[in-house]
Amino acid sequence: MKGLLVLFALVVAASSMEDFVGQQVLRVLPADEEQVNLVRELENLEHLKIDFWRGPTTFFYPVDIRVPFASLQAVKVYLESNNIQYSIMIHDLQSMLDEEQRDMRIGRSMENSRSTASFNFAVYHTFDEINNFIDNLVAENPGFVSKVVIGKSYEGRPLNVLKFSTGSNRPAFWIDTGIHSREWVTQASGLWFAKKIVTDYGRDASLTNTLNKLDIFLEIVTNPDGFVYTHTRDRMWRKTRSPNTGSTCIGTDPNRNWDAGFGGGGSSANACSDTYRGRAAHSESEVKAIVDFVKSHGKIKGFVSIHSYSQMLLYPYGYTTARAAHYAELDSVSRSAVNALASLYGTQYTYGSIITTIYQASGGTVDWTYNQGIRYSFTFELRDTGRYGFILPASQIVPTAEETWLALTKLIEHTRDNLY
Ligand SMILES: [Zn+2]
Repeated sequence: MKGLLVLFALVVAASSMEDFVGQQVLRVLPADEEQVNLVRELENLEHLKIDFWRGPTTFFYPVDIRVPFASLQAVKVYLESNNIQYSIMIHDLQSMLDEEQRDMRIGRSMENSRSTASFNFAVYHTFDEINNFIDNLVAENPGFVSKVVIGKSYEGRPLNVLKFSTGSNRPAFWIDTGIHSREWVTQASGLWFAKKIVTDYGRDASLTNTLNKLDIFLEIVTNPDGFVYTHTRDRMWRKTRSPNTGSTCIGTDPNRNWDAGFGGGGSSANACSDTYRGRAAHSESEVKAIVDFVKSHGKIKGFVSIHSYSQMLLYPYGYTTARAAHYAELDSVSRSAVNALASLYGTQYTYGSIITTIYQASGGTVDWTYNQGIRYSFTFELRDTGRYGFILPASQIVPTAEETWLALTKLIEHTRDNLY
């Protein structure tokens, strides 16, 4: 009887999870501006249900699109009849996701959930496991690490922020991961950063020096509703989970929801779009919580918001081609950060302003923080460049976190040494 119940539970769990059998991710390479526009048109053909993993920019820049099995034929015919080059990056998305699930089951079975000492950073974790890690880390480091709950998600989950602090009233550096829920390597890297900070404090001279001057805030699961949804229903979910009036489509893109060029180019007014900006700036409680926290803190001097994928380090602006006032400084810090990153495993990053390096994106996080006066505002796009995209194998989590930490350290040190 018990066996039957378990079987029943498994069947229910499996049937509620979105299925990606036969879905492919195509890499499209438009050869001129006309082809870029033709690729862009695909987004308006809503019945095809195409998901842009990497949106169109300009010609000779790859566009990665996830295509449901039922639309594959039509999309390929469309591309071929327009003479647009493409290749198949992922042949069967579901088989990659099955592997991801297998790795998760094996990796987690080796952990002891009562301590961060046995925590397996080389595996993807659930929201509950991450919160358990956070609570353990706080308990293990009294007087150094604390948990600040800055608000609640739409569905009522706590917005937990780790605070690393060795003194009172300090200026601070903020890091967030996972504002786009499907970008799993980012939350996983955030966990590794947290452990790295407590391991290195008192041992590594630079980090010790940093923490004697600055507090570090780290929000690991910045979009908890979306994150839980990626584990339970749809691995490809990016947005928040708040409903939209007048539409059956759910969610807002929390990286288009900030009051910086809100509603401008590179953000959608369509609630069904993955770049839907929301009904108003800061409509999403996950965004509003950070806005309120940043304003009330008043001394955040550096701010990094971490995404994947594409291997880029970006700074403002995304909504306008106007150069940031500190453009030259941001550019040179970025260069040293990506050089540090490449020194470990040779991973190559590009860098520059958001609008010149990826595409116009309005209502983004770091445009808002920069306009708030946080001079050192940056966004990362972590590994990879598209081979696995959002389904980065768990074996790459630790190397990704390690190399990113080298770049982050450059940004943090620069902030520490140039307090304003
Ligand atoms: Zn993202």
